[in-house]
Amino acid sequence: MTESVRNWAGNVTFAASGTHRPRTLDALRSLVASAARVRVLGSGHSFNRIADPGADGMLLSLDALPAETDVDTAARTVRVGGGVRYAELARRVHARGLALPNMASLPHISVAGSVATGTHGSGVRNGSLAAAVREVEIVTGDGSVLTVGRGDERFGGAVTSLGALGAVTALTLDLEPAFEVEQHVYTDLPLEGLDFEAVAGAAYSVSLFTDWREPGFRQVWLKRRTDQQAAVFPWAAPATRALHPVPGMPAVNCTEQFGVAGPWHERLPHFRAEFTPSSGDELQSEYLLPRADALGALRALDGVREQVAPVLQVCEVRTVAADEQWLSPAYGRDSVAVHFTWVADAETVLPAVRAVEAALTPFSPRPHWGKVFAMPAAEVRGRFPRLGDFAKLVRETDPAGKFTNAFVRDVLSG
Ligand SMILES: Cc1cc2nc3c(=O)[nH]c(=O)nc-3n(C[C@H](O)[C@H](O)[C@H](O)COP(=O)(O)OP(=O)(O)OC[C@H]3O[C@@H](n4cnc5c(N)ncnc54)[C@H](O)[C@@H]3O)c2cc1C
Repeated sequence: MTESVRNWAGNVTFAASGTHRPRTLDALRSLVASAARVRVLGSGHSFNRIADPGADGMLLSLDALPAETDVDTAARTVRVGGGVRYAELARRVHARGLALPNMASLPHISVAGSVATGTHGSGVRNGSLAAAVREVEIVTGDGSVLTVGRGDERFGGAVTSLGALGAVTALTLDLEPAFEVEQHVYTDLPLEGLDFEAVAGAAYSVSLFTDWREPGFRQVWLKRRTDQQAAVFPWAAPATRALHPVPGMPAVNCTEQFGVAGPWHERLPHFRAEFTPSSGDELQSEYLLPRADALGALRALDGVREQVAPVLQVCEVRTVAADEQWLSPAYGRDSVAVHFTWVADAETVLPAVRAVEAALTPFSPRPHWGKVFAMPAAEVRGRFPRLGDFAKLVRETDPAGKFTNAFVRDVLSG
């Protein structure tokens, strides 16, 4: 079947020779074994060519495979199929009285695609979503199934793998007992005098939002677990109405605010699972850098806000705890993540992306693999100290380079 496939934002059209939606694991294994080049597309929420197989490659979607979510309540784990999205997984896990430790802003993204790019939520003690993965099952280039679990020396490269090792058909994730979260929104937090550590640590998950039209944050979202200390937030005023992070947008699609306690999966994402949050009329960029440098980095961004603000919808600042995935942007360092939702016009956005990258360079920023970045590949390579180990793992696991597309080649070569 050949069809034109685009990503969610519509800014990338995949140049595949064919697209396939296998219904069984055996059909998937045969397809992979027969292909010369292949890439898996998750829910297509990345903003660059990371999933593009190239004109001579096969694009595989796993969304027709059985949507497996096997919860083991005694072990507190779930085995989830390679095409399943977080919204579906979270509902099933919650129904068994369990929870994922954290979620991204949008629940509609696929689990395998998210952990492949180092996707994260927020929280000074919360690692990226990949940190919850304990085992991964991969159909490799010859059609065989490789299982890599924690404790295996390859594990550090096996989860945040950019899709370069093979098709991930299942992941086993750690769970914890279900918990409730209250969401409190505050407005107008100035940059001047900001105690970033105190603000970022004021709740289980904290997000700061700014449009960089002024030196400060229009909104701060605190997600407090009801089984943890009450949130004290003396630095800004509580919001008087429900708010969307993008100024002027209606809050109807946003998760419940005003401190109404609710299940973890209905509060940790910013957007409700039952609504499509936006038309995809946007581009995104994000950079992770050491959390200790957060204030310096925010001041540096304040210095370029006149270049950034005209093409920005909103900037979100979150924290991510250090993790052990070699290609995770939070690898080995407690991080602050500075995210930009841009207008949907790449030509006008790119100069602003470059301005942001130049401002953040002193802080050694690592780009989010699923978003738009402009820094040269050599610079990106220099930011990931275990890149050599990852390249070796790719050579060993996929010696024919079936799953290596132009994006991955760029990252690895050098
Ligand atoms: C509205 C919106 C909100 C977002 N919010 C956040 C956020 O809060 N935090 C954050 O960090 N990021 C966020 N992102 C970015 C997003 O999480 C990443 O782009 C993520 O990779 C999306 O997952 P996906 O399944 O759509 O991946 P895709 O774009 O489909 O694929 C990404 C990569 O994963 C690989 N892949 C996917 N599935 C498989 C599989 N089964 N086997 C092997 N490889 C696979 C692909 O080949 C590709 O390399 C957001 C994006 C959007 C559009």
